[in-house]
Amino acid sequence: MTIKTDGWVKTTCAYCGVGCGIEAKTNIDGSLTVRGDADHPSNYGKLCAKGLTLGETVTHEGRMLSPSVAGKECQWEHALLETARQLNEIISLHGPDAVAFYVSGQLLTEDYYVVNKLAKGFIGTSSIDTNSRLCMSSSVAGHKRAFGEDCVPGCYEDLEVADLVVLTGSNLAWCHPVLFQRLKAAKQQRGTKVVVIDPRATSSCEIADLHLALSPGSDVALFNGLLSFLHREKHTDRNFIAHHTDDMELALEYAEPFKAIDEVTMVTGISSQDLMTFYQWFADNDRTVTVYSQGVNQSTSGTDKVNSIINCHLATGRVGKPGATPFSVTGQPNAMGGREVGGLANMLAAHMDFGKPEHHKLVSDFWQTDNLSQKPGLKAIEMFDAIERGDIKAVWIMATNPAVSLPDSEKINRALAKCPCVIVSDCIEDNDTLRHATIRLPAQGWGEKSGTVTNSERRISRQRKLMPSPGSAMPDWWIVCEVAKKMGFTDSFNYRNEAEIFTEHARLTALGNEKERQFRELNLNGLKYIGQKEYDSLSPIQWPVASFDCQNAIGAESNTSARLFTDSIFPTPNGKARFVSVAYSLPASQSSDLFPLIMNTGRLRDQWHTMTRTGLSSRLAEHVEEPTLFIHPKDADAYQVSQHQLVSVSSIKGSGLFRAKITAGLCKGHVFAPIHWSKTTSSSASVCTLISPECDLNSGQPEFKITPVRISAV
Ligand code: SF4
Repeated sequence: MTIKTDGWVKTTCAYCGVGCGIEAKTNIDGSLTVRGDADHPSNYGKLCAKGLTLGETVTHEGRMLSPSVAGKECQWEHALLETARQLNEIISLHGPDAVAFYVSGQLLTEDYYVVNKLAKGFIGTSSIDTNSRLCMSSSVAGHKRAFGEDCVPGCYEDLEVADLVVLTGSNLAWCHPVLFQRLKAAKQQRGTKVVVIDPRATSSCEIADLHLALSPGSDVALFNGLLSFLHREKHTDRNFIAHHTDDMELALEYAEPFKAIDEVTMVTGISSQDLMTFYQWFADNDRTVTVYSQGVNQSTSGTDKVNSIINCHLATGRVGKPGATPFSVTGQPNAMGGREVGGLANMLAAHMDFGKPEHHKLVSDFWQTDNLSQKPGLKAIEMFDAIERGDIKAVWIMATNPAVSLPDSEKINRALAKCPCVIVSDCIEDNDTLRHATIRLPAQGWGEKSGTVTNSERRISRQRKLMPSPGSAMPDWWIVCEVAKKMGFTDSFNYRNEAEIFTEHARLTALGNEKERQFRELNLNGLKYIGQKEYDSLSPIQWPVASFDCQNAIGAESNTSARLFTDSIFPTPNGKARFVSVAYSLPASQSSDLFPLIMNTGRLRDQWHTMTRTGLSSRLAEHVEEPTLFIHPKDADAYQVSQHQLVSVSSIKGSGLFRAKITAGLCKGHVFAPIHWSKTTSSSASVCTLISPECDLNSGQPEFKITPVRISAV
C-alpha cells in the first residue's frame, strides 16, 4: 500500500471513535493541509468539521517544551531519574498499591501497552485506569456478561445494509458525524427506517422516522418491554435461542413488570402508540442495528441498559449477521485499543482476565515477571477517592485532564493538591490538571507521534508522524520505557521503536493453546512477526487478523473479521451467549424541591473534550462560543430567563454561569450543558463541578446524564 504520494501521508484522525482515515501534507511554511483518505474503509474520504480543521490545531504555541521537576525546568535525564526515584521510594515505603496511573483513550495502543505492562506486570499495581472509564466501561461490562468477552460484533457497513437502525443514547450526528453521514446516505438510497431514542430532539432526529423522547434513565424499562413483546407476540428466533443462548427464561421474568404497554408508558413517558410502532418495527425487521453510546453507558444502570439491548438482539438471533447487530460506538480515537491491551483497572491484558490462573500464568510467563498484579485495581472514581484519602501517594496522569473531566471536579482538584507525587505527561503547557503536577513530562502530540489506534468497528489504523515535535517532546511509550528502565526493569522495556511494541502486543493476543485461546476473539496472530517496514506501511485492518502478506503489507482479515460470531459460537465456556436478567431501577439522583430540574450533559458538534486542541480553531468555536445551557421555553418562562441571558446553575456539588439558549428540543424540566469548558478556558463554568460521582456498580462508569439542578437568571 502506498502511504505517501506527492507528499500526502496517510494517517488517522485525532478525535472520535469513527477513526477516519486522513491524508496530510506538510507545507513549506510548516503548516498542515488535511483531506479525507478515500482508501480508508471506515470513512471513504469523508471528514467532519473537526477532522477537516486538524491542520489549524497543529501549532507550537502553548506546547510544553521541556521536562520540569518541582517547578524547575530540567533535562530529560534528570526528570526520568527523579520520576523513577520517587516511584521506587513510594513503592518501598508504602507498597505498589500506593502508585496509580490515570491514562487516556487519546494514547496510541503502543503507549497503552507499555504503561499497562509497567503498572500491572512490574510495579504490581492494578490501579491503572483511563478516561475510557467515563466513556465505554458499561459497554465493556455488558459485552463480557453477554458474550463472555469485550467484543463489538458488528461493523459500519451494517448500518448501510440494515432495514432499521435504532440510535439509542447516541447523538450520532454530532458525536460520530461521518458514521451518521454514511447512515444518512444509506437511508436516502434504500429507505432505512431510523428510530432515535433520546430525551432530547438532537440533530440525529433530522433523519428519524420516529423519535422516542424517553424519561432519562428509563432505557431498561423500554427494552424489557420490547423483550416481553417479542416473546409474547412470537417474534423471537426460537432455534437461535435454543442452540446458542442461555438464561432467557430468567431474563423474561425480570422483564415481566413491563409486559403491559401501559407500564412502559408510565415509566418512560413515551406514548403507547409510539411504543407499539417501535416494537412492531423491531419485530418486523430482521436487519436491525441498535447503536448505543454515552446516553446508555454514562449511567448508574449503564451495564443493565447495555444488556437490556443485547437481550433483544439475542431473542431475535440478530448478532453476527449483515445489518443485524447491537453496536456500541466508542467515543475516543483509541478507546478500543486501550481495552485490547488491558488499559482498564479490571482487565489484565489482551482480553485476559483477573481471577483466571491460566491467564495469569500466560501473561506472567510472556512478560517474564514474578510481580504480576493478582487482583483488579481501583477504577477512576475509586482511584481519586484513594488519592484524597492519602492511600495513593503517586499518580501518573497521561494525555488527559481529570481535574476538569471527572465528576465532582472540585474534589478531584483537592485530591491532586494533596497528592505528594503528581506526574503529568502531556503535550500542552497548561491545563487544570497540569497545575497540580510535581513532575511535568512533555509528550508528542497528534501528527508528531507514530503508532496504532483501533476504532469502533475493531479496525486498527496507523497514526503516522507528519512533522517534527517542538522542544524536547518525546513519544509517551518512550517516556514510560525510560522510567521503567531507570526503576530497574531494563530488560523488559528495551524497545527500539513502536513497531517492536506492537508486535509484542500481537504475540500476546495470539498466545495459548487451543483451549486457552477458546474464550478470546481478539487475535492478532497474523501481525505478530511483521517488521518495521510492514508496520510502517500497514493498511487499516479489522481484528481478528488471521495472516499477513508481507510482500504487500496487507493483512488478511479472517473470515469473521468484519463481523464476529457469524457461526453463533460465543467466547463463553459452553459457547453460548447469555441473556442477562436486568431489572429497571430508578436513577440514583432525582429532582427535588431544592433542585427541580434535571441536567443532561454531552458533546457539541465541533468541540472535543476539554478543548485543548479544538479550542485552537476559530472556525470550530463559531458553532457555540461559550458555556451554554439549553433550556425548554416553558422552563425559561417559569424561571424568567430570556434568550442569551446569563444563567446561574447550581447542584448539590457546585455552581456555574452559562449563557441561556432556549430551545424546544428538550423536554420540559430538563436542561442540557456541553462538557467542554473548564477554568482554563472559561472563568464561569466547568460542568463537572456540578456532577455527583455516582457510578454504575458493575462498570464503575459515572452518571453524567442526570444531575438535579436549579437555575436562576443573573
Ligand atoms: Fe475525526 Fe470522528 Fe470527524 Fe471522523 S467523524 S473526522 S474520526 S472527529
